[in-house]
Amino acid sequence: MPLQKEYDIVIVGAGVLGSALAYELSLTFSGSIAVIEKENGAGLHTSTRNTGVIHRPFYLEPEKKKLFAESSQISYRMWKALALKHDLPWKENGTLEIATRESDLKSIDSYAKWAISNGMNEEEFKILGSSELKEHEPLVKGYGAILSITDACVDFGAFTSKVMELAKSNGVEFISESNVTDVRETSDGALIKVRNGGNEISLKAKFVINSSGGDSLPIAHRMHLAKEYAVLHFRGDYWVVGDSYPGKIRNNIYTVPRHKKFPFLDPHFILRFAGRRELGPNAALVATPYDYSDRPDSGSLVLKLLEKPTLPKIKLLTNSEFISLVRSEWKSSRSKDEMARQVRQFIPGLDTSYITGKGLSGVRNSLIDSRGFVPEAVLEHSDHSVHILNYNSPGATGAPAFAMHVIRLLKESGKISLKETDTLRTSIWKAEVEALL
Ligand SMILES: Cc1cc2nc3c(=O)[nH]c(=O)nc-3n(C[C@H](O)[C@H](O)[C@H](O)COP(=O)(O)OP(=O)(O)OC[C@H]3O[C@@H](n4cnc5c(N)ncnc54)[C@H](O)[C@@H]3O)c2cc1C
Repeated sequence: MPLQKEYDIVIVGAGVLGSALAYELSLTFSGSIAVIEKENGAGLHTSTRNTGVIHRPFYLEPEKKKLFAESSQISYRMWKALALKHDLPWKENGTLEIATRESDLKSIDSYAKWAISNGMNEEEFKILGSSELKEHEPLVKGYGAILSITDACVDFGAFTSKVMELAKSNGVEFISESNVTDVRETSDGALIKVRNGGNEISLKAKFVINSSGGDSLPIAHRMHLAKEYAVLHFRGDYWVVGDSYPGKIRNNIYTVPRHKKFPFLDPHFILRFAGRRELGPNAALVATPYDYSDRPDSGSLVLKLLEKPTLPKIKLLTNSEFISLVRSEWKSSRSKDEMARQVRQFIPGLDTSYITGKGLSGVRNSLIDSRGFVPEAVLEHSDHSVHILNYNSPGATGAPAFAMHVIRLLKESGKISLKETDTLRTSIWKAEVEALL
């Protein structure tokens, strides 16, 4: 196979993270940078297929979710600046997280503490007792809630495309419709096999950044890294609430999750940036990161569960709570009655008859090891590569700051020290980043 081209840095995957990494690198690095993406545009998978909420970090436990908490706190202002400068949707509808059981009030108290520890200020959230909640959102029922006032509804797909466009204007090469099928480490870099239509080409890079979402772990495994981890794919389905629903609800409505050690959130009531109202997402176990079909492919799912390493999966599959959740999540994927039933626990008047159909599903890729689900993003390194694994919610919110963090680590470790530009390109986020220094 002929070697087609050589780059200093290749980024695999143009989701919100790959695009933010490309832009961040393009500000200070004058070597050649290419982003390889299998689809014909940036951000077409999870980075578009999500809830579209800029999450403030009140609900993220500072020690367990440090990276996500810090990234989402910093990125809030960065995304807001991008939206304002480029006229992209930004609606600060706020998020109300409800205690649906009396015991959830303890979590609400913890959220108030975590909000402050994670850098939010006291004007950005409110704690509501049950009567204040009734007054604030009369259609919603609960023992109390936290209102995060500045959570915003956005279009992460549009954010991703804009950031990629900015990276390209700084000289980044975007190679679309090109599927990376293999990456091999060499003594001075990496060889990357790429399938483009019927053609197979081979590229060389001094350094590879793997930010390929659902494919990140398989690529790392092929390079004999992160062997202790397995990945499970959970599809989040949404149901659309039609215009016939007369209820006026002004915030996104979330509930304190009941099954905290699993990635099963109870469904939310979501206000999309364009005004559409949806219920979801659930978390239906599927075989691949791109399984958007309504019928589970059980054959492929069984094969997936048998892939190595099997130990983390055996532990989960023998856990009766996990199995019963898997069943009930599939039920709410197929049945709008089931989704509406779950939502009526906090919005009693929301009948099935108001649900008009399905929204756009998206798949989260959750890493597990022998202790269970991994709570944070994971970075795995080799001499000439870094692999970003388990980059889940609130990953879209945190992407610009997380990209800055990764590039800083790579520079500090000397892995990408070559060819710094003499003159810094001005960052779209200059003012926001300087305010943090
Ligand atoms: C249902 C759901 C709701 C969510 N809601 C929110 C939310 O409201 N707020 C929030 O902040 N976060 C949310 N998230 C999380 C957030 O969407 C993700 O953390 C984020 O989009 C991940 O971005 P990424 O760039 O890592 O992955 P992706 O968007 O998956 O991008 C990876 C890219 O790599 C490409 N790729 C994969 N393999 C290859 C290959 N072999 N060769 C070439 N290209 C390849 C893919 O085509 C894709 O474009 C949600 C996630 C889900 C699933």
